[in-house]
Amino acid sequence: MSDYQYIKEQDPDVYAALVGEEERERIGIELIPSENYASRAVREANGSIFTNKYSEGYPGRRYYGGQEFTDAVETIAIDRAKQLFKAQYANVQPLGGAAANVAMYFALMEPGDTVLGMDLSHGGHLTHGHPTTCINKVFNFVRYKMKDVDTGEIDYDELRAVALEHKPKIILAGFSAYTRELDYAKFVEIAKEVGAYTVADIAHITGLIAGGVLQNPFDHGFDVMTMTTHKSLRGPRGGMIVVREEVDIAKRINKAVFPGMQGGPQMHTVAAKAVAFGEALHPSFKDYAAQVVKNAKAMEEVFKAAEVRLLCGGTDNHMLLADVYGSLGVTGQEAETVLDEVGITLNKNMIADEPRTAMDPSGIRFGTPALTTRGMREAEATQLAELMLATLKAKEDNAAKVQLRQQVKDLCERFPVPERFV
Ligand SMILES: *Cc1c(COP(=O)(O)O)cnc(C)c1O
Repeated sequence: MSDYQYIKEQDPDVYAALVGEEERERIGIELIPSENYASRAVREANGSIFTNKYSEGYPGRRYYGGQEFTDAVETIAIDRAKQLFKAQYANVQPLGGAAANVAMYFALMEPGDTVLGMDLSHGGHLTHGHPTTCINKVFNFVRYKMKDVDTGEIDYDELRAVALEHKPKIILAGFSAYTRELDYAKFVEIAKEVGAYTVADIAHITGLIAGGVLQNPFDHGFDVMTMTTHKSLRGPRGGMIVVREEVDIAKRINKAVFPGMQGGPQMHTVAAKAVAFGEALHPSFKDYAAQVVKNAKAMEEVFKAAEVRLLCGGTDNHMLLADVYGSLGVTGQEAETVLDEVGITLNKNMIADEPRTAMDPSGIRFGTPALTTRGMREAEATQLAELMLATLKAKEDNAAKVQLRQQVKDLCERFPVPERFV
């Protein structure tokens, strides 16, 4: 049965777009490392009647009546989130990762205060103080970098020196284009020295931490984690903030989310988060998370054998960054376009110390959360990496591209997106 029976009858234009997207997802392979497929159950909750309800406030403390079921579902989401991340407190209302970060900054700082975060050209995210963002007008951002872009090792000496000089209120660990594990204990040690909070923005690796394949920053004493729920965690599009143990921090976070920044929570998304967290607590999610990393390693091997330069020298997580311009003479934009033509979706990306431009950089970024959800394992990840390299070499060869397109489609059809994960 179609998901969209009523839309089909009532609104053919929107229906056409939905069906088009379904087909695009069905026959193409998704390698954007921040994307995934949510289960049917998550999408049912996300499309549910909770969208009708205003529920400003928090469970047991709302500004409107009729909250019996919103309280129930938000409490389920909070309890499961706490269990997943070993947190004492969780706020499940942030609309996305960006909103979670803004609320976190305002909860922990006063205007003019300083954040020490990863350099944006070395993998930090826009929301870590990019000049074009609103928060950059309010807070001061200083940076640490990698010591060696070919191993990915962070320059912890520099991090400490910058911290001592600028006395940040927050030391922020986290990235959207970086492939190695961080030394969280080091961050905590330096933060203690300068009296800063430690926050990990785990937006990309949420599912890998929940699934136990990457370290949990809370095990090393971090204060707060911000995250998304739609990337490797495989939930609905949204954000979340969890607090390790300090009640005072938790209170300030709650106030900053509502009424500080947001209005009524999107309770349909909160319900979908609760369902996704339930899936992530299921033992099978550990296997999924482990397979995501194994698949990334399999792709790493193919690129290494072809002597394509990988930033950080490879990967510990779900993501790879390849210097395709330096190694193959294909720019990031050319690579994105030609791969799209054969049904492989990924994004161009700046590499550390980028010699080219943001609009046409040297690199591509890709990852394995979505293909792993389709049930693909090392053999298919290897095949895909080989198809990628063949496509990058085919460039203008249309006959070769038609064949490659068919191979990608065949692979996708062998691994349809599953409706349920548990
Ligand atoms: C994706 C991401 C965000 C932003 O999340 P949105 O849901 O798109 O707002 C924030 N921080 C990091 C590190 C990210 O990867």
